[in-house]
Amino acid sequence: MNIDKLFINGNIYTMKEENDKIEAFGIKEGKIVFTGSNIEAIDIIAYAKEVIDFEHQIIIPGLTDSHMHLYAHCKNLEDVNLETAKSIEVVIELMKIKAAKTSPGKWIKGVNFDDTKFSEGRLPTKTDLDKISKVHPIIIRRSCLHVVCANSLALSLAGVVNGYKPDVNGTVEYDSHKDPTGIVREQAIKVFDQIIPDCFNNREEKKEAISKVLRDIASRGLTTVHTYAAKLWKYEEDITIYRELEKEGKLPVRVLVCLDELFEKEDYNETKMSRVTYGAYKLFIDGSLGSRSAALIEPYCDDKNNYGILICTQEELDNKMIKAYKKGMQPAIHAIGDKALEMIVSSIENVLNIFPYNGQRFRIIHAQLINESLLERMKKLPLVVDIQPSFVSSDLHWVKDRLGENRLSQGGYAWKTMLDAGLILTGGSDCPVESYNPFEGIFSAVTRQDRQGYPEGGWYPKEKLSVYEAICMFSKNAAYATGEEHVKGTIEKGKLADFIIIDRDPFLINPLDIRNIKVIKTFVGGV
Ligand SMILES: [Zn+2]
Repeated sequence: MNIDKLFINGNIYTMKEENDKIEAFGIKEGKIVFTGSNIEAIDIIAYAKEVIDFEHQIIIPGLTDSHMHLYAHCKNLEDVNLETAKSIEVVIELMKIKAAKTSPGKWIKGVNFDDTKFSEGRLPTKTDLDKISKVHPIIIRRSCLHVVCANSLALSLAGVVNGYKPDVNGTVEYDSHKDPTGIVREQAIKVFDQIIPDCFNNREEKKEAISKVLRDIASRGLTTVHTYAAKLWKYEEDITIYRELEKEGKLPVRVLVCLDELFEKEDYNETKMSRVTYGAYKLFIDGSLGSRSAALIEPYCDDKNNYGILICTQEELDNKMIKAYKKGMQPAIHAIGDKALEMIVSSIENVLNIFPYNGQRFRIIHAQLINESLLERMKKLPLVVDIQPSFVSSDLHWVKDRLGENRLSQGGYAWKTMLDAGLILTGGSDCPVESYNPFEGIFSAVTRQDRQGYPEGGWYPKEKLSVYEAICMFSKNAAYATGEEHVKGTIEKGKLADFIIIDRDPFLINPLDIRNIKVIKTFVGGV
């Protein structure tokens, strides 16, 4: 047996099972060919071209972000970050700084604002944003991406004026004179995205921005990302850019590109050696809880006539699903509210009534509100749920206003309930909504607290996950979602040598410290 690299003296969590630990493993041509103890490693040391001493450092499998929008994040980095703004007043101040440096007529964009933190307790309107500038078209985008506020110039350039009718009812807000207030939601946001010039001047600039972000992603311990396009909002994902980066030796992680339009899948045999592959076909059903557009069975507690927004009917969804299934695609469906979830569960049932199961797991993205009967139906279906545990840390301050105690205690962000029901959960960030640092997600799943440690004991603590369960979501469960459970996700013989060295033991430290874990080195395919 020849071995390219033999790693010894490690504190290695294989993640095959809880507490399964080894001291050594050997790799050849990017795959793990030996695992065992130091003593077993010494037996084969003569066959190793190189021996590397881990010096008792902590090793876990490389992690996966199962749901993010990589190009959206790259674009957002060019905009004014409003994350810290605690009032509309501060938003105006921050945006004014940018306006002073921008020539009139050019678009100015702000991102990541969160109106639940605003002292005014409301969304900004065109009147607020006109105070920044009337000679620049301005939009600001909520952190959830599902709401945009625009100034008067932006509205008129987009044609959103008195009498404008959006495709989906309720997506543009009007005052009593039928004038748009500047608040635009969901699909209707595209009217801006379609006319705003791309922030990158050319393909090279775009590629450089992506490359830079990918390097940072790898340094956080991610070895695979599932990145999703939202073409509607011009968050395209161009697979050829990742392929070029790979050819140039500049792709530090594996990338699964998921598109929101039907596409031709390549022959797996042709691409299996590549780090870049096509993944799921993304469908949307509803919006977000923050913007009160997630579709609910019962209305919002803080908006009694509002059930959220459904962007398609059951029949339309079924037709899309059937089309995708016929093409052999893996559908991945965004569903946040319980109504949206109910629709997607029905749709999966309907598809499987017509077609024999093709072996690909359906992916449900978010699933932030469930109930018992839905859970019973989900248990019987071949699906995975792609959750974003960091949402708990961000949303726990305001989501009770939206959904109320009853619904939340029964099925709000009910990760443990879902796991106990036998569902497979994967972990993601929905970046740019949350940070792609996977240890932020693991921290949230384990503690169910915000970044300051509030509330003590955790928010609906019965839904807390163990450290093992949380890391599984970001490793082997994510591999299971794409049918790659025999390829990666654990440190086992025959699997890809994707692993990370971290600076402290997540199983032994205070859970509050998990988000401070630093990655010492990331290995993809053994390098
Ligand atoms: Zn998303």
